[in-house]
Amino acid sequence: LDVVDTFWPRANRYLMYTGVPASPVIITKAQGTKLQDASGRQILDFTSGQMSSLLGHSHPEIVEVVSKYVGELDHLISNMITEPVVELAERLARLLPAPLEKSFFLNTGSESTEAAIKMAKLHTGKFEIVAFSASYHGLTQGSGSATYSAGRKNGGPTMPGQLAFPAPYGYRSPFKKADGSYDWETELEFGWSMIDRQSVGSLAAFIMEPILSTGGILEPPKGYLPRMAAECKKRGMLLIMDEAQTGVGRTGEMFAFENEGVVPDILALSKTLGCGLPLASVTTTAEIENGCKEAGFLWLTTHLNDPLTAAVGAKVLEIVERDNYCQKAADRGRQLRAGLEKLQNKYWCIGDIRGRGLLQGIEIIADSATKAPGSDLGQAVSEAAMRNGLSCNIVNLPGMGGVFRLAPPVTVTEEEIEEGLRILDESFAQVLT
Ligand code: PMP
Repeated sequence: LDVVDTFWPRANRYLMYTGVPASPVIITKAQGTKLQDASGRQILDFTSGQMSSLLGHSHPEIVEVVSKYVGELDHLISNMITEPVVELAERLARLLPAPLEKSFFLNTGSESTEAAIKMAKLHTGKFEIVAFSASYHGLTQGSGSATYSAGRKNGGPTMPGQLAFPAPYGYRSPFKKADGSYDWETELEFGWSMIDRQSVGSLAAFIMEPILSTGGILEPPKGYLPRMAAECKKRGMLLIMDEAQTGVGRTGEMFAFENEGVVPDILALSKTLGCGLPLASVTTTAEIENGCKEAGFLWLTTHLNDPLTAAVGAKVLEIVERDNYCQKAADRGRQLRAGLEKLQNKYWCIGDIRGRGLLQGIEIIADSATKAPGSDLGQAVSEAAMRNGLSCNIVNLPGMGGVFRLAPPVTVTEEEIEEGLRILDESFAQVLT
């Protein structure tokens, strides 16, 4: 274990702090749903890396594709198109509803939303971008301006024309019907009335996740997304769907927006499409492509349409379709959800459970009568879980209890879900007694 003796002094000396404290755990190997630390201890990975390793770590077929392309066709000048890039675009078009069929490929989620926002502005000739008040779309200047759940300290103003819309957070929304249920219709009308009052008449797009992940696993109620799409249409705005975390099967559908029959104007994919490698996509319609072209849209970054990562993306789509991982995510998701509901009956501090498929969140409260947010308690349980062999992260917004985000890979087995639930149970018991 020489590495452990010298690891932290070297890490602390040479790595810049970028805003989040480093995990004390040193991982030396990642395979499937398992991580191994420097002492050889096995840890279940219920975060899929940074919510990206959709098929588990080092899936053999992904390893094979990477080896092949790194040895044969790694990277070219950005305007040279290769077969894996065409294949990935074709596969996406086949999986997506018409008229979504024109794609290009880049590296990260931030880059995909940055590009989508730029396209919406150029196509509409307008500049105002609306996003949910608990959104996460990245941390570059444009994507970061549309992000309200983290990192707004940019050393200066955000992009002009950025507007926030109340996120669909039914658990704590003040909008309630007489029977106590979430009155999302009134909240939605209120949200639009605020947007219409603040807008200077230049609404270009609404950018949203179909289930807000980093914002606390907020799944909009049934009917919400179609209503939002109609409101955007009424105002001549484009709807940008950011499926960085929800896309490619995780929620039980290939794309989470399909659940409600909504078709976005622009779709951004990233994390899950690359299965742990840096790959993102932007897909739109021929009409918007044309509008962007006429307005002079330019995206010619170094890794535009890279063959190696595109080949990985094409393989990910092939595997998810071929091995029926949407269905498997739905099945394992139901199992996970049922187990979490049992835990909720056992531990008073689990205030709410939400999400779909293999993207589930449990909100921790400090007081069951007042529902006061229980961020410290949540943090303690997540640290206990890590000690007990389960990695699951916690997302925290002001006024929200710590929300455990459980997003295991779609390859997770029935036994691994049971094991994860057992460790969570053990961890809650340890912290609460
Ligand atoms: N969109 C969503 C929905 C995300 O969750 C993230 C990453 N957390 C991003 C965009 C940004 O992606 P990246 O970190 O790859 O830039």
